[in-house]
Amino acid sequence: MPEFKLADRLATLPPYLFAEIDRVKQEVAAQGVDIISLGIGDPDLPTPQFIIDALYESAKKPVNHRYPDYIGLLTFRQAVADWYKERFNVDLDPHKEIVSLIGSKEGIAHFPLAFVNPGDLVIVASPNYPVYPVASGFAGGEVLTIPLVEENDYLPDLDAIDDDTWKKAKIFYTNYPNNPTAATATPEFYQKLVDKAREFNVIIVQDAAYTEVYYDDNKKPLSILETPGAKEVAIEFHSLSKTYNMTGWRIGMAVGNETLVAGLGKIKENCDSGIFQAVQEAGIEALKHGEPYVKEFRQIYKERRDYVIDALRNINISCRVPEASIYVWANTPKGYTSAEFVSKLLRETGVVVTPGNGFGAPGEGYFRISLTVDTDRLKEAVSRISQL
Ligand SMILES: *Cc1c(COP(=O)(O)O)cnc(C)c1O
Repeated sequence: MPEFKLADRLATLPPYLFAEIDRVKQEVAAQGVDIISLGIGDPDLPTPQFIIDALYESAKKPVNHRYPDYIGLLTFRQAVADWYKERFNVDLDPHKEIVSLIGSKEGIAHFPLAFVNPGDLVIVASPNYPVYPVASGFAGGEVLTIPLVEENDYLPDLDAIDDDTWKKAKIFYTNYPNNPTAATATPEFYQKLVDKAREFNVIIVQDAAYTEVYYDDNKKPLSILETPGAKEVAIEFHSLSKTYNMTGWRIGMAVGNETLVAGLGKIKENCDSGIFQAVQEAGIEALKHGEPYVKEFRQIYKERRDYVIDALRNINISCRVPEASIYVWANTPKGYTSAEFVSKLLRETGVVVTPGNGFGAPGEGYFRISLTVDTDRLKEAVSRISQL
């Protein structure tokens, strides 16, 4: 029998921490327990009907049955430019500063292939979305993790990184509003990061998937491209997934520095053949006319957030009040590690939450709740947690 060994890049992946939870979940469900999953970062609300209608109309046109352009329809990129202008007052050239993506995860995963050589250093602020270190590792990069801590509002301490490290670094990854901590970035932080990146020739990859899920109209999350000088060093990944409840549609965008956008485009040109044009045309409608719906979604998440925060505090579980994102980041009760708490909670109550250390070691001592079930289910979940 021939034997096929996985490539080193797969064999050296860190163990998938959520696999154990999935196993216990199957076991508990098999006993007939009603599982409440607060573990998934996937909006439960449906895509607005007008976007679905737009897809239907576009899918009927034969021109859309052909291969799309790998860089994306100019009309879609123009809609992205208009949306960035309206929302962030950022000017983008749709010809050079925007590339459309098959979901932002696709772009984030491909990006290091364009700019990281084996042995290059990449810095990841953690806890983090797992794709940043994994994709950097696939490209042969060495990953340095720097901690995001509560005392610093989950913003990385840039001064704690020495000049030698800055000099060696190729990419610095950030994600605000942050998954999993739900923290947002300040203009001062972004300015400092952009200044460092310009001084030391470092690429900033900022993941902006959650800028539209915010809770206070007076504190809208920023685009890093609002920062003076950012276009010299930054590429920002964004997506229609979380904004318009379109995770299954697979459409996103990367915007910013022209060289960085072109490099990513070059990789994509060699890997995929673009996004179904009907999906892009539906995406244009979403970007143009989605805001009233997004406003409603924010209201729904806010009700859920307020309920969960109050309820957790009533049972003496402390948590941070999120300004944005669909998550609540909470401290595990005294005496438990993240994994112990999550496992006990699941076994004894059927409630699934995500252990903080699943997003990297700095997440130890925390767990993440997704606000992606309705308030009645959240009530049931918190009542079960209180019985632990
Ligand atoms: C959900 C998510 C994404 C990506 O979503 P796509 O559906 O691939 O656009 C990217 N980053 C973070 C942090 C996310 O939570």
